[in-house]
Amino acid sequence: MKLVILDRDGVINLDSDQFIKNPAEWKPIPGSLEAIAKLNHMGYRVVIASNQSGVGRGLFDMDALNAINDKMYRALTQLGGRVDALFYCPHAAEANCECRKPKPGMLVDIGQRFNTDLTGVPTIGDSLRDLQAAHAVGAQPILVLTGKGKKTQAADDLPENTLVFSDLSDAVRHIIAES
Ligand SMILES: [Zn+2]
Repeated sequence: MKLVILDRDGVINLDSDQFIKNPAEWKPIPGSLEAIAKLNHMGYRVVIASNQSGVGRGLFDMDALNAINDKMYRALTQLGGRVDALFYCPHAAEANCECRKPKPGMLVDIGQRFNTDLTGVPTIGDSLRDLQAAHAVGAQPILVLTGKGKKTQAADDLPENTLVFSDLSDAVRHIIAES
């Protein structure tokens, strides 16, 4: 199965240290939604795996998270794109759950839901924990330099097979060229 796994904040939309707490704060990175639509047209399923600890910390509730995601879905639909599933971890770091990246729980769940092996599946993020979670399940870690990406790249402790691209659009061009 052709599958791509994406982080949300800093990959699809602009990130904020103050969290994305409502639809007004959700702003797509130029070209990111078009890139998702392009993957769809090339026969890829696109699934999001996102840490949303702002829920666990009480900064926003599930209604707000759903409203933010609805805004994303509507914007994507206008471009002929779609997200096949969205997995998120609502827990604060202290909860020590199995789903919060860098733990691979969400990715394992995605593999089970889609009944597919994640080996080599392009898994795109802007934070080290996205890449570590990808590495833990044998997926292909891909770092984009949007969001926290430049800081992540500078930290220089990336999983060794990590690929680096300037943004989602650039990463998708590579994935499609390789397929
Ligand atoms: Zn969790």
